[in-house]
Amino acid sequence: MKFGFDIDDTLIDLRKHAFDIYNQKLGKNVPLDQFTKLERVEIHELFDMTDEQGGEMWKSSLEDIYYTTCPVYPNALETLVELEQQGHEIYYITARPKEHGERTKEWMKEQGFPVQDERFFYGMKDDEKVQIIKRLGLDYYFDDKPDVVNTLVKEENLKVILKDQSYNRHLTFTRLVDWTEIQEILEAKQA
Ligand SMILES: [Mg+2]
Repeated sequence: MKFGFDIDDTLIDLRKHAFDIYNQKLGKNVPLDQFTKLERVEIHELFDMTDEQGGEMWKSSLEDIYYTTCPVYPNALETLVELEQQGHEIYYITARPKEHGERTKEWMKEQGFPVQDERFFYGMKDDEKVQIIKRLGLDYYFDDKPDVVNTLVKEENLKVILKDQSYNRHLTFTRLVDWTEIQEILEAKQA
């Protein structure tokens, strides 16, 4: 089968990593419980920034956010390695900007993710992911972002799995809270 994965906040804990970087860079100590309550994807309001300031902070921090020590979610890596060993095809579809695509691919390989060059897509907008997902004929697709999964509701042959985050609790997709639940979810979906 064909499995597609978003990267940020689906396979790796990127927002939390960025939150830690912001605290450090800005000399602040915003508590974690405020972060875990956030109902939007962007984190800058915790640091009293406007959307514009937040956008600039994000862009100017990208090098650190993307390429330092962002943690992989427990069991995410193992899951993908196992799926590949079972003969499934693994695709990555990330909306990271084009100029970061190749480096991101290398970073993912360095973490140990099973990456085939021609199965790694980047640089599209959130609402353009659906075109790639359809063209590839994916059986499963995993993402965290409301703006992405909401474009996939009409895809009858696609099983969408939502990685649980504080900003997507209002959605009713099959929800993966923890990657250790993956086997159960796949079995339930196949039944
Ligand atoms: Mg994401």
